[in-house]
Amino acid sequence: MRLTWSAAAVVVFLALVAGAPMFAPPFWVTLGNYIGLYSIAALGLVLLTGVAGQTSFGQAAFVGLGAYASAWLTTSYGSSPWVALAAGLAFTALVALALGFITLRMRGHYLPLATIAWGISLYFLFGNLEFLGGHTGMTGIPAIAIGGLELKSERSIWYLIWGTTLASLWATNNLLDSRPGRAIRSLRGGYEMAEAFGVDGARLKIVVFIYAALLAAVSGWLYVHLQRFVNPTPFSIIAGIEYLFMAVVGGAGSVWGAVVGAALITVLKQVLQDVLPQLLGRTGNFEMVVFGVLLIVLLQRARDGVWPWIERLLPKAPPAPVRDAAPLAPRDRGAASGPLLEVNAARKTFGGLVAVNDLSFRIEAGEIVGLIGPNGAGKSTTFALISGALALTSGDIRFRGASIGSRPPHEIARRGIGRTFQHVKLIPAMSVLDNVALGAYLRGRAGVGRAALRLDRQEEASTRAEAARQIARCGLDAHTFDAAGSLALGQQRIVEIARALASDPTLLLLDEPAAGLRYLEKRSLATLLRTLKGEGMTILLVEHDMDFVMGLADRLVVMDFGEKLAEGLPAEIQRNPAVREAYLGGV
Ligand code: ADP
Ligand code: MG
Repeated sequence: MRLTWSAAAVVVFLALVAGAPMFAPPFWVTLGNYIGLYSIAALGLVLLTGVAGQTSFGQAAFVGLGAYASAWLTTSYGSSPWVALAAGLAFTALVALALGFITLRMRGHYLPLATIAWGISLYFLFGNLEFLGGHTGMTGIPAIAIGGLELKSERSIWYLIWGTTLASLWATNNLLDSRPGRAIRSLRGGYEMAEAFGVDGARLKIVVFIYAALLAAVSGWLYVHLQRFVNPTPFSIIAGIEYLFMAVVGGAGSVWGAVVGAALITVLKQVLQDVLPQLLGRTGNFEMVVFGVLLIVLLQRARDGVWPWIERLLPKAPPAPVRDAAPLAPRDRGAASGPLLEVNAARKTFGGLVAVNDLSFRIEAGEIVGLIGPNGAGKSTTFALISGALALTSGDIRFRGASIGSRPPHEIARRGIGRTFQHVKLIPAMSVLDNVALGAYLRGRAGVGRAALRLDRQEEASTRAEAARQIARCGLDAHTFDAAGSLALGQQRIVEIARALASDPTLLLLDEPAAGLRYLEKRSLATLLRTLKGEGMTILLVEHDMDFVMGLADRLVVMDFGEKLAEGLPAEIQRNPAVREAYLGGV
């Protein structure tokens, strides 16, 4: 019953899009065209800001680049709008690459400030370049022609605008549901987690930034050939703020948020512009004031934007089933002799504090080694040195004979080290299946282009099948399609292990996997780790809880104050007076 409801909603929406230019009054056709244009630019921000967590106020500047590139090329060189589109996109990509390279490395509020800075700069550049018509702008821009048909009227260009809008929504939605899409979702709040699965976070951020800029440029191109006139005003920082508002108000977590936000803000502004002067009996920019207040109220009431409200009314689509698919290729391990992991005089200092003091130990293939010690002993720091999250101060770490000391985490992941996090780092809103599939990132190839065009379905089916297999291996199959955030902490830790296993690691690093678990959960975790060992997995277990590791590890390395206090079989360690002293003294 409810499903037919949503089918009806889609049909009504498409019918509106298809029929509006024929039946709607001209005023609404114009407004609809603008909503389409704004949706495309706001969609870029849904991905960049809403999904990847990079706030940009500079989107309007990229709209301007697409617009001015086409305006200039078509009027000064008589090139066709289509050629100008290609040139404009190429140019925008270059500018976005350069700006992204400089600004995306900034963290916290520096990034938004930087986007404001270059957003303003580009705006003034448009206004000050003589050949772009300065602040008065350029006229005589030709209409877009498709096969001899010139899209001169608002009604005729409608189909191009909305066709492009729907295509952008489709491509972006595909992208979100793919290998790069899962990586993009994991960028939010720092990319430590993504890097641990082989994602080059810095590079991916720039790719997303360029994708968003290209959507903006397409919007600008359509705009300039709709208006047939251009000046710098629509590309000011105010417009940049408005695009951000559209994405946030609509709901920055879903592609449909872009359309809802663009529609809401465009219509609201229009209505206020018409109504307020009549109410107040005088003209002025009052609509901006009321508009601002309304937005604040809206954001107070609906922090995630309007789309989630609408989504609640629509029936939930059942999750796509996991199909049988060709298995993902195992990771190439190569032949290696000698110890799997060698830590040689590893040292890490934080200012004057020596957190890890010339620590050395080895792990042989197939062993479970426990790294234990009281709080503050330096276990997590050692873990971070091995996984690449921290750089060594001195010493070396070798994995399968090759030095990995101070290499970036995504390179270390590539060599076959999988890890979990002491503080669980899952994407709460994403299903367990998708979270685990992110672990298989390095076993897939599909990039942004293939994913957006949905050419990755074969690989995607294999990835999902592999993720489901790992989830079942860890005993969580009942929760495959649940949102990861809805699981209990103990289960979330197991999801992290399944995710690490999906990367087909040679060495599994676990940082305090038993922390915060109840007794039964600890027992099932121990059973799982024993099973993994039985299957030949090598595990380094960093643990504060000595009882937990005692029955599990083949060998223990005990740390205290950054140094190795003892090393040996669990029974030996248990009897060691220095170890007992360190633990009891710490209590
Ligand atoms: P453990 O995991 O064994 O409890 P850690 O490796 O987290 O211990 O910490 C070892 C020591 O290094 C502690 O004294 C801690 O305060 C310090 N430390 C850890 N990380 C940092 C950091 N990023 N900056 C400064 N000091 C740190
Ligand atoms: Mg720790």
